[in-house]
Amino acid sequence: MERPNEMKKIKIAVIALLASILIAPLAFAAQETAPLFPDIPPGALGGLGYKTLKCDLHMHTVFSDGDVWPTVRVDEAVREGLDAVAIADHIEYQPHKEDVPTNFNRSFEIAAEPAGKKGILLIKGAEITRDTPPGHFNAIFLDDVKPLDTNDLPDAVKAANDQNAFIFWNHPGWKPDKKGWFDIHTTLYQNKWLHGIEVANGEDYYADAHKWCLEKNLTMLGNSDIHAPSLITETTPDNHRTMTLVFAKEKTPEALKEALAEGRTAVWCKNQLIGKEDFLDAIFKASVKVGDIQRKGRRTFNLQIVNNCALNIELQRLGDIGPAELLLPAMGTAVVQARLAKGAKRLELSYIAQNLLIAPENGLPVKLTALVQQAQQNKPARRA
Ligand code: ZN
Repeated sequence: MERPNEMKKIKIAVIALLASILIAPLAFAAQETAPLFPDIPPGALGGLGYKTLKCDLHMHTVFSDGDVWPTVRVDEAVREGLDAVAIADHIEYQPHKEDVPTNFNRSFEIAAEPAGKKGILLIKGAEITRDTPPGHFNAIFLDDVKPLDTNDLPDAVKAANDQNAFIFWNHPGWKPDKKGWFDIHTTLYQNKWLHGIEVANGEDYYADAHKWCLEKNLTMLGNSDIHAPSLITETTPDNHRTMTLVFAKEKTPEALKEALAEGRTAVWCKNQLIGKEDFLDAIFKASVKVGDIQRKGRRTFNLQIVNNCALNIELQRLGDIGPAELLLPAMGTAVVQARLAKGAKRLELSYIAQNLLIAPENGLPVKLTALVQQAQQNKPARRA
């Protein structure tokens, strides 16, 4: 009676082995897919090159008003291809405290080990929570959240600064009837206690915040502020959480903090990138390349334009050459017909990238250039 069972076990083992051999290359291939946004090559921003880190620096767990255990946030981050996350539970608002006792540092402690094992940078944070105005502020890179638990807002923000934290103003347009830059914001800013602002939170973009960041040289952030479990199984151009792209010298907490302090960020919210011109220009140039050029007539050419990032880039013509509107599909290639000016040796297409916002309602000006000597002549087929 034992024999058939043994045979069955062997058969199962062989099937399992075969399955693992068949599945292994697929799993490997999945890890090898292109990143959603390329790194910035050396020289592009006057530096030695930067890693483009995908970060969500504002999320909640059951230790404040979130619906999930801290480790869930780590698993979501892995699934969605994030590099760094900060759990920033509210200090002053803990509706689950009868079941989950107040312990300001605990959500970080619980998530730290799985985050380390899974390659996610986990940053300790907290949300300082006040009525609007002044509103809510995240302090991240904290050593200990406890000293921030104090009545006076400037005291709490100072306590965070005493720990060398990075502090940003959350969802400044959350309550449209009470939004605005108030004296308290000036106080924090003048003390150098405020380092950034969320220009996007979830699906909302705040044009005012974008303007303030440009005027006051504050760092732009975009975060999910997620409370419920994330239902995203894979980050795609059409389905992704709002995140901050941080251009860091390496993938370490120290390099992330340095990049945030220097303002090297861009925000990916829906099908938009929001940021300062230099950074959007760098990410555009790292992502978009003119590929093959084919001569179609004496002065007419077909250009392949490759877009290596997760944004469907919407271009509107500025110059005389090329179609009036042009879509560069995310992770795809567009073919464009363009006509060379008389006597010119190089094609130069001038456009505005309308969904790379360098200021409210202002797209990034871009140029696509190609030398035409390298073009292949398309010889007509010879008649029989
Ligand atoms: Zn929040």
